[in-house]
Amino acid sequence: MRITFLGTGTSQGIPVIGSDHPVCLSEDSRDKRLRVSVLVEWEDHCFVVDCGPDFRQQMLRAGVSRIDGILFTHEHADHTMGLDDIRPFFFRQGDIPIYAHPRVLGELRQRFPYIFVSGKEKYPGAPGVREIEVTGNRTLELGGISVVPVSVMHNRLQVFGYRFGDFAYLTDVKTISDEELQKVKKVKVLVINALRTEPHPSHLNLEEALSLIEKIRPEKAYLTHISHLLGFHAEVEKTLPEGVFLAYDNLQLEV
Ligand SMILES: [Zn+2]
Repeated sequence: MRITFLGTGTSQGIPVIGSDHPVCLSEDSRDKRLRVSVLVEWEDHCFVVDCGPDFRQQMLRAGVSRIDGILFTHEHADHTMGLDDIRPFFFRQGDIPIYAHPRVLGELRQRFPYIFVSGKEKYPGAPGVREIEVTGNRTLELGGISVVPVSVMHNRLQVFGYRFGDFAYLTDVKTISDEELQKVKKVKVLVINALRTEPHPSHLNLEEALSLIEKIRPEKAYLTHISHLLGFHAEVEKTLPEGVFLAYDNLQLEV
């Protein structure tokens, strides 16, 4: 299985518009972070997790010409606002499968009503989707593998992470129940969010992410959904424990 980090930044991305923070001015390409998303490929299957405002640029940058579907974690704008840009995939492939909690599908229908219209009502050129509900207790069968939804809390909002075999992707986590934690325990590669050093009401900070990684005990962990306030990639990575890394855009892993 091949993992490509399409984006590793928090909701504003890095650089932040108009910011003169040193991390926003950094010339290290690893300090330039699009909104968070990941591409998961195995055999001839290709799935994207989330579809934020940088989706078009991410698909072009990673050279993606076909997708089997999009799995949504939750409805926040940095994870959903690129949905209109599935149009080139839709023109070639037809309705694009989207996997999400029923609540998130409802939010998408409100924000993009023209995508969810069918038949004569549909505006020519509008994209189409096929909705697949994700519920916490049902494993998805995608391209011959089991994908396990992992329910976490983003302050008071429920969010899904996904475990694809030996790879687990959890973003926008603040807390996770012991029961859900069991679903990712001792996974080979874990991706988890770490916003910054200071605490935040809806995101793990670095210290909290590291203590959750200690509980999950993956072989390797990669941190994502990173704010410029976390610091320079090159400096922060030196401070991390063995087996823990900062993800960066375009990083690829074989799992
Ligand atoms: Zn987010």
